[in-house]
Amino acid sequence: MGEEEEGVGTDTLNTGDQWSVQGITIREMENAVKVLLLGMGEDISREGLVDTPRRVVSMFLELTEGLRCEAPKITSFDRGSTDQMVVVADIAYTSLCEHHLAPFMGHVHIGYIPGECLAGLSKFGRVVEYYSKRPQIQEQLTSQIADHCMNQLKPRAIIVVVEGHHQCMSMRGIKKENHKTMTSAIRGPIAQGEFFRLLAVARGNSNL
Ligand SMILES: [Zn+2]
Repeated sequence: MGEEEEGVGTDTLNTGDQWSVQGITIREMENAVKVLLLGMGEDISREGLVDTPRRVVSMFLELTEGLRCEAPKITSFDRGSTDQMVVVADIAYTSLCEHHLAPFMGHVHIGYIPGECLAGLSKFGRVVEYYSKRPQIQEQLTSQIADHCMNQLKPRAIIVVVEGHHQCMSMRGIKKENHKTMTSAIRGPIAQGEFFRLLAVARGNSNL
């Protein structure tokens, strides 16, 4: 057909009427997008919009994959004699604000003091993906990441800091372009000064 692929999830969209989550088919979702466009005053038969309902549904399914996949396991291995803080900085995420379905995005920073185990570092990225790929609020995203890592990894302590830029604040409403929303979740006793010092180093704002 010569159409471009548009990321994860497009294969499942070819089933049209068959795909069903909570009894809703792809076709019904596409029709809902058509209704939205019509209500805005659009002509849904014009060339530029013909494929838009399919693309919009595909995009929203991709951006909400966390709702339909398994929670990631954090693989871990014996920490040996290591007992220092581990910091993973600048894990990028994109999510959808649950109030407007507008994107918000930014970075997650995680620091933890190992318990019995060290985490496979890429697993933090998967945890961030899992909780960000759904309609969400930043405060809850932050807590969910912290609690999931606590439950799976059982560190002595963990701190999760999330920076977010919310399109629903910059595009509409009060239209504040350069805001940043910061949230943190702390579980257990952790030296926050050490965490923020290492974070500043990771972000090039300081030297060791
Ligand atoms: Zn919003």
